[in-house]
Amino acid sequence: TIRTRFAPSPTGFLHIGGARTALFSWAYARKHAGQFILRIEDTDVARSTPEAVQAILDGMGWLGLSWDEGPFYQMQRMERYKEVIQKLLNEGKAYHCYSSKEELEALRERQMQQGLKPRYDGRWRPEAGKSLPPIPEGIPPVIRFKNPQTGMVNWQDMVKGEINISNEELDDLIIARADGTPTYNFCVVVDDWEMGITQVIRGDDHVNNTPRQINMLHALGADIPQYAHLSMILGNDGQKLSKRHGAVSVMQYDEDGYLPEAVLNYLARLGWSHGDDEIFSMDQFCAWFDLDHITPSAAQFNTEKLNWLNSHYIKQADLAYLAADITKRLASKSVFVGVGNSSPDLQKVIDLYRDRANTLNELADSIAYFYHMPAVDEAAAIKHITSDILPAIKTMADQLASLEWSVEVIHALINQVVTEHELKFPKIAMPLRVMLTGNAQSPSIDAVMYLLGRDEVISRIKKFTD
Ligand code: GLU
Repeated sequence: TIRTRFAPSPTGFLHIGGARTALFSWAYARKHAGQFILRIEDTDVARSTPEAVQAILDGMGWLGLSWDEGPFYQMQRMERYKEVIQKLLNEGKAYHCYSSKEELEALRERQMQQGLKPRYDGRWRPEAGKSLPPIPEGIPPVIRFKNPQTGMVNWQDMVKGEINISNEELDDLIIARADGTPTYNFCVVVDDWEMGITQVIRGDDHVNNTPRQINMLHALGADIPQYAHLSMILGNDGQKLSKRHGAVSVMQYDEDGYLPEAVLNYLARLGWSHGDDEIFSMDQFCAWFDLDHITPSAAQFNTEKLNWLNSHYIKQADLAYLAADITKRLASKSVFVGVGNSSPDLQKVIDLYRDRANTLNELADSIAYFYHMPAVDEAAAIKHITSDILPAIKTMADQLASLEWSVEVIHALINQVVTEHELKFPKIAMPLRVMLTGNAQSPSIDAVMYLLGRDEVISRIKKFTD
């Protein structure tokens, strides 16, 4: 059965690149009715934090990328790594190396001077018929993996195609530090092996680790998983994605008013395609997803496209869900959606406005005026609320008091006033917009009035006419 994993290092938030890696691994497992495993690679103690672990879990949770096993924490598996290291030592597949820092530094400098790529020269590597240097005192040894010295490492990368690396280019990797702690590449190998990972889907910043990992997997007698190395995500400008390009953390998208459905749909298309299909659900994505249609070239982040998808999902979203979300966003700006009878019905208000919003924050901003008296745009007021129009608006306001309250009747009243005063419709609609909403842009004014409610409409108009 198919088993994939997402293996983030908790040194920061879940960023967009990591989220896409997680999404692809998750979808691949879903498609094949396999398992998706979450593994926290927290062995870099100096840089890993519990906050970052939480941020990753939050990001996964927000996106709805649920895992079938885990989270596993590498720090909790130290004893197991040490056992495997001991096994490799016993089998002669790893060895102690007593070279001091100074010694290795000198070696390195010599190689650089000779124009060679610096690499460990195997001085402590045991070999039949070779005598090793005397073990020095007071130097705790590191443990190195006995990498094959000849031959090629070869794999068919699911994204990059065939890759061949000569073992001559790889030296004997340190798998345990002098203090006995296992190193990063070794932990990954043990975990991918013991967790039975069949497809390793990860960023291509790890492609150089792969030949070493494959050699170690062979030494352990493990099956070699398939590898898919995803190319980078670049910003709009073709540069490495960074804070300059806006949100980088997945949770920042939540804060900025994006729906997880939109972010997921966007990420799914970032470097993967299914014909011309742009909008699809995650069920559909999981059914379609394959590793053959991932582009090997870098994908460029495009905020406009994300906005387009977000506006699509806002139009489709469940109104009760949107109402709960918008209530929170408004509350964070000290605008409180009332619960009383006279309070405008938030779901209806949202429905009136949602076609116009790229983000939930835009949506919240555009409807806030229903729940608090907005600041009035001075320029719009001067332009539209002219003294010649006030009598007509006053007449209308007086009639509102006893009007049957429906969009149609309000609409008819405005038309009647327009006719009686021999006006054009905008001549009265525009000042009403400014009085009621604070500016001159709004959907149909009769719908706005209807939802705002009789008392509130009258009281807002009176501020201008009295
Ligand atoms: N922990 C690594 C990272 O966060 C991923 C390692 C892997 O997927 O093999 O970059």
